[in-house]
Amino acid sequence: MAGKKLTCLACGQLNRVPEEKLGAGAKCGTCGAKLISTKAVEIDFATLQKAAKNDELPLVVDFWAPWCGPCKMMGPEFSKAADVLAGKARLVKLNTEEHQKAGQVYGIRGIPTMVRFEGGKEKKRQSGAMRAGDIVSWVG
Ligand SMILES: [Zn+2]
Repeated sequence: MAGKKLTCLACGQLNRVPEEKLGAGAKCGTCGAKLISTKAVEIDFATLQKAAKNDELPLVVDFWAPWCGPCKMMGPEFSKAADVLAGKARLVKLNTEEHQKAGQVYGIRGIPTMVRFEGGKEKKRQSGAMRAGDIVSWVG
């Protein structure tokens, strides 16, 4: 079957999205939330685990925390990159202060740290704040 599996970031349901809908307009069959966003979506630990394991589109996670200055500077840049990469990769944010377990499970030592998952595996990671253009090239 054509299309790519994507986890709904709102309800956690796994959806199959036809290629032609990856650009925009794809919605979750269960809750109706948009599956492709032009912004970085904030997710929790459970959703991250599901999406990192099942998604067939690259998933790029920005591990951050509210007390971290460089993270705050990177926030808008990361969101700009999410817009540029919409349909090619999904960019999400995980608050490591709210979801401390996630930081432990994924071995996050410093923030901001970006991790790129694809096909159920971690493909690469990078620590330190980056600009939108650099994030886009890093995601590749
Ligand atoms: Zn949903």
